[in-house]
Amino acid sequence: MTNSATTSQAHLMPVFARADLAFDRGEGVWLFGTDGERYLDFTSGVAVNSLGHAHPHLVAALQEQATKLWHMSNLFKSPDGERLAARLCEQSFADTVFFCNSGAEAMECSIKVARRYHASQGHPEKFRIITFEGAFHGRTLATLAATGAAKYLEGFGPPLEGFDQVALGDIEAVKKAVGPATAAILIEPLQGEGGVRAPPHAFFRALRQLCDDKGLLLIFDEVQTGMGRTGALFAHQRIGVEPDIMSLAKALGGGFPIGACLATAEAASGMAPGSHGSTFGGNPLAVAAANAVLDVMLKPGFFDHAQRMSLLFKQKLASVVDRHPDVLSEVRGEGLLIGLKAVVPAGDLVAALRDAKLLTVGAGENVVRLLPPLIVTEAEIEESIQRIEAACAALAGHAPMEAVR
Ligand SMILES: *Cc1c(COP(=O)(O)O)cnc(C)c1O
Repeated sequence: MTNSATTSQAHLMPVFARADLAFDRGEGVWLFGTDGERYLDFTSGVAVNSLGHAHPHLVAALQEQATKLWHMSNLFKSPDGERLAARLCEQSFADTVFFCNSGAEAMECSIKVARRYHASQGHPEKFRIITFEGAFHGRTLATLAATGAAKYLEGFGPPLEGFDQVALGDIEAVKKAVGPATAAILIEPLQGEGGVRAPPHAFFRALRQLCDDKGLLLIFDEVQTGMGRTGALFAHQRIGVEPDIMSLAKALGGGFPIGACLATAEAASGMAPGSHGSTFGGNPLAVAAANAVLDVMLKPGFFDHAQRMSLLFKQKLASVVDRHPDVLSEVRGEGLLIGLKAVVPAGDLVAALRDAKLLTVGAGENVVRLLPPLIVTEAEIEESIQRIEAACAALAGHAPMEAVR
């Protein structure tokens, strides 16, 4: 094969605007580019590699499993899957878990569980779900409809029926949207793609109350916020409000694809043999990776470290924002899901940070997400601050957002 055939993007469906950068290898928070440079990875594969790259415990777990069994269908029992499900339930509100392979699939299951609950209670007419502006729930047809963003829905035919979107944080709008066909309310504890946005905790308490009063199910999409990203195993634990159903994926396998839908026994009471399934869901390699992630995260002090790093990072970022009001306007977020609201176009800031060998991710509302692995150290945070300073200096005098619209 010629070199061009092995390196061209010509045969990849052009759905991603990829940076001209590739990596050979990672170690902790560092990525080693094929350009010979070393990059500080504050994308964590978009909130996936939360234990960094090539974590020794994860590598060992996957290597060991790889010599034993790669795949086993759900026709048979899975002792390691049972153990993973039991651990997730022990750590949460949930009684039961369905394993799948991605965030969108976890959300699909959450939506099906909620609809089926009401159907099994004799109310098949209750299938509608209230969602929020700025949400992101995935790219399958149902999760796209739940996401509700015109730019993602365009050209894919009529959106799946059954989602009613209201303004984030507006409890009166939610109450008005509840009708005889409403089954559930679906929300991210902290919007990631939407721009690191969250309503006050009181809003979540009001949603819980409303669900209890009206017999609705509360679904949390913790695909991005879950598995420690906001400083607790699950973001809702810091809010103090429990859902009936929750979706997980991204960091659950530490980089190995796995998703999960967690539910209370009551919420899942409509699900029975044959009502849902997945060929790969709960695959032995994925389950081994996720059990290894939990081994690390459940060690005493793990989340304390993430919270300390969050505090330190946010303090240092606040002073960078003060020094560069022509580039940055605000620090947002919880734990290590941090957003920097930019004054310049966020894409320009991401590019300038990349030039400074710091990798970050864009988000809505002209925000740049900083998602370091949760194992990041104080020295690495300090290193990132210097790179952010350098990027801001490079962008000083750059046209502000308003001027380029
Ligand atoms: C990433 C994400 C998804 C979709 O996950 P995929 O694995 O890409 O399907 C869903 N919800 C939220 C909140 C996400 O951040």
